[in-house]
Amino acid sequence: MSRKPRYRVPSANRGASPPAALATMTFAALALAVLGTAGCAGSYAQIAARSTHSSPSPEPAGTSQPAATPTPNSAPDPTTPPPPPSAPPPPPAPAIPANLPVATGKGPAGSARTTGSASVALTFDDGPDPMYTPQILDLLKANDVKATFCLVGRQVKANPGLVHRIVAEGHTLCNHTWVHSLTIGTQSKEVILKDLQETNNAIREAAPDAKIQYFRAPGGNFTPLLVTVAAELGMKSIYWAVDTRDWEYSKWGHGQSMVNHIIQTVESETRRGSIVLAHDYKKPDTITAYKILLPWLKAHVTLTAMPVD
Ligand SMILES: [Zn+2]
Repeated sequence: MSRKPRYRVPSANRGASPPAALATMTFAALALAVLGTAGCAGSYAQIAARSTHSSPSPEPAGTSQPAATPTPNSAPDPTTPPPPPSAPPPPPAPAIPANLPVATGKGPAGSARTTGSASVALTFDDGPDPMYTPQILDLLKANDVKATFCLVGRQVKANPGLVHRIVAEGHTLCNHTWVHSLTIGTQSKEVILKDLQETNNAIREAAPDAKIQYFRAPGGNFTPLLVTVAAELGMKSIYWAVDTRDWEYSKWGHGQSMVNHIIQTVESETRRGSIVLAHDYKKPDTITAYKILLPWLKAHVTLTAMPVD
């Protein structure tokens, strides 16, 4: 990865309309008062824990911490008033003003950062994964949300039934190369063409009627040649406007800290028209985060799969 870490705004209220911001701030102040020294992370964990009653997703042994385990700091001080019996729900007013201009701009080599409409597109990369892709599909179905899956050819070959399910449930597809080569854009046209065609062939073998009208370079490492070859195969190159960085365990850890990071990133950075990047390959924390995020996103923006003709 050559991209620099982006600047983060700590508040989830960025971009909030005044009434929404006020309501959120009031709730945040209440949460902090109740939680004492728990701080932002603690209060965020509490908010997240309040927002879901589902148990944490299974994770590979030895790679994660238990999610939402209460810490001593987050226990209410017996000398402070207890919280109200039912905490107020997140403010219903949109944190993303409806009159905000639709996001624009391009990614590397002219790739798209946005949907081209006011709608927000959720994208899930690197699958299909036999454990986690079904979980994100179940979540999307439960929330009646359509998304876009950027598929890796060898994963398609190993899990054709999941490709069929993705398509059958109304989601759209994106080619993400055969083995997720981060340097494919530096290869010859012949090598690129062969890779992208083989990936599309595997997808069509699994789902014969599938339309594959999008391409995403692994790592977002688009080059003009890569974008051109994708276009010759009928695929538009898509980058992203919101990057959950849900793979960056060295910075965010596993378990609740990563879940909180993903939630805060999406809630603070999503704008009208954004393409949002996350992963469905070996990413249990992403599943947990999207249990919270899907209802939040539905309340604040219109969600769409990247459209196909
Ligand atoms: Zn990828």
